[in-house]
Amino acid sequence: MDYALLKKSVSVHQVAQMLNLRQHHMVGGWHRAACPRCDFGTSKSLILLCERNLFVCATAGIIGDQIALVSHAKNVRPYAAAQQIAVHYSLRHVLEQPREKHAPESQKPRNSAQA
Ligand SMILES: [Zn+2]
Repeated sequence: MDYALLKKSVSVHQVAQMLNLRQHHMVGGWHRAACPRCDFGTSKSLILLCERNLFVCATAGIIGDQIALVSHAKNVRPYAAAQQIAVHYSLRHVLEQPREKHAPESQKPRNSAQA
């Protein structure tokens, strides 16, 4: 599993869509949504910082990336969460990461900004 590649390939916003989170737009590229695990009713614990690919669950008191979001929302281990994301978005190359990389990775630009 190539976590870095997975995080580059799928944004927090896309993961929120995968989880069917109803997102409420806020200023500055933030979104709020109900946490599938913590919220029952109308409260909205999740804050999605889409531009930074981070989420916060105010109820659980955690902050994390896309994989952590799925891990938290579905109560699964990060590896299982990463697998679910990769399968959902058909990222076979992420799942089947070769052990040895032939191309140097260090000089690749990071797509931190959301397109
Ligand atoms: Zn939560």
